[in-house]
Amino acid sequence: MSRWVLFFVLLLSGATVFAQSGSEREKIQQLEMQREAERQRALRQKLDSAIALVNEGGHEAADEKLRDVLRAIRSVPSELAFYVGKNSHFLERHKQAIDWLNKYIQLKGTSGQFYGEAVALLRQSEVAVLKETETQRQKTAELFSKDYDIDCGPTGKVVCPVCNGSTVVIKKGYFGNKYSTCQFCQQKGFLVCEDYNKLLRGELKPNATH
Ligand SMILES: [Zn+2]
Repeated sequence: MSRWVLFFVLLLSGATVFAQSGSEREKIQQLEMQREAERQRALRQKLDSAIALVNEGGHEAADEKLRDVLRAIRSVPSELAFYVGKNSHFLERHKQAIDWLNKYIQLKGTSGQFYGEAVALLRQSEVAVLKETETQRQKTAELFSKDYDIDCGPTGKVVCPVCNGSTVVIKKGYFGNKYSTCQFCQQKGFLVCEDYNKLLRGELKPNATH
């Protein structure tokens, strides 16, 4: 008789221990979920304050926070892509702005909440990049055009400096490279000397070579 009692006592205490370890596991799981939720909340707060900074004109401070958020997440939501693009535009990092704004438009299409603003900023950044290129060409022209005409040697040809002879121009981007046909050498990969000198002077127009 006392053996049976002992058996039941052992059985009961075993069940209690099992129940306790089960609830321990649940507690740990709950703690982990709480921690993750807390992390998400903190990230959301950081993103919200970065967005406020972007809209108030605090672009340097916004940049720092946006970089923190980008580092902490696994995949970039479209909203973040838009604000990184917008902030890059105001920091005059126009190529960066073009990349991120294009990404936003790719993700959300014409129905995106920020579509209109994204397109407007994108155009402005594109114009700014063209101007930068123009200034660079003019600087090159100052060095060569006034006193020198470059001798291209007996062949009279020079490997196209725009595409390095490949006939393809590669623009590096955050989301992969963009390829386009070189607009200066008519897919030949070289320029005749006259065109080469025009290019150096900033006078060679796209698709106008010999
Ligand atoms: Zn070329």
